[in-house]
Amino acid sequence: MSYFKNRTLLIATNHQKDLVLAPIFEKFLFVKCVTSNQINTDLFGTFSGEVERINSAEITLREKSKYAYEKTNIDLVLTSEGSFGPHPLIPFATLNEEWLLLKDFKNNIEIKEKLYSQNTNFSNVKISNTKDLVSFAKQIGFPKHALIFKDFESDSKKTIKGIHRLHDLKKYYYEFKNQFGTFFAETDMRAMHNPTRMHEIYKLGLKLLNKMVSLCPKCEFPGFGITDLTFGLPCEDCLMPSKSILSHIFKCQACHFQLERMYPKGKKFEEPMYCEFCNP
Ligand SMILES: [Zn+2]
Ligand SMILES: [Zn+2]
Repeated sequence: MSYFKNRTLLIATNHQKDLVLAPIFEKFLFVKCVTSNQINTDLFGTFSGEVERINSAEITLREKSKYAYEKTNIDLVLTSEGSFGPHPLIPFATLNEEWLLLKDFKNNIEIKEKLYSQNTNFSNVKISNTKDLVSFAKQIGFPKHALIFKDFESDSKKTIKGIHRLHDLKKYYYEFKNQFGTFFAETDMRAMHNPTRMHEIYKLGLKLLNKMVSLCPKCEFPGFGITDLTFGLPCEDCLMPSKSILSHIFKCQACHFQLERMYPKGKKFEEPMYCEFCNP
């Protein structure tokens, strides 16, 4: 890993993600991890809605990296993004999407990785009495996980974040209750207030590291990973192509060397129950 060894890696986060990322990046990449109080990643969007994220995660990450590089002059930057929303396929389930992007401005390297997870306590509820509050707090894993209170209006005039002590929970409950009658509580999704999310970021960090140490077989450029998929794994019975994955395509971003790895799930045929011809 001569590209990264002994360099300084800036972990551009305001939410202490370096707590889980720095140890593994230092161990496996031999870099020195730092954070900076000169950068404010909340400018690019927040969970609680004060700043709306306008662009896709990927574009936002590139902008964050460039901004962090310009602010600090550190040319190796790690940025992250997360989002939460309804699962596109499973009703009532929530999907957490996490991204990490490594930018090496010195060697013009970009390596990104994402992780989808249903392991999240992202939620919100209307609160009008203590029973609502106690049941919500239990549901999201308070006090290990923090809460946010908002007034009932959509353009939240009053927001209290990072409520993780019982004393504050009580205090703000009565404050909001007296002021608004009914209000909103939601899970604080910022990484340092949400160990469940922090763990997903840690898992993603390992996934990104794995890609970073994967080198192009031809020119040894780092970040040799899957860039595309092909579909059409043949049906075991009728041999017609199914919708299942047939191969993974790996491509080097430096020399454009390409490699196709067939049957990534380890089987050469799909079961007829997933075949559109045998089981329409
Ligand atoms: Zn290459
Ligand atoms: Zn078939």
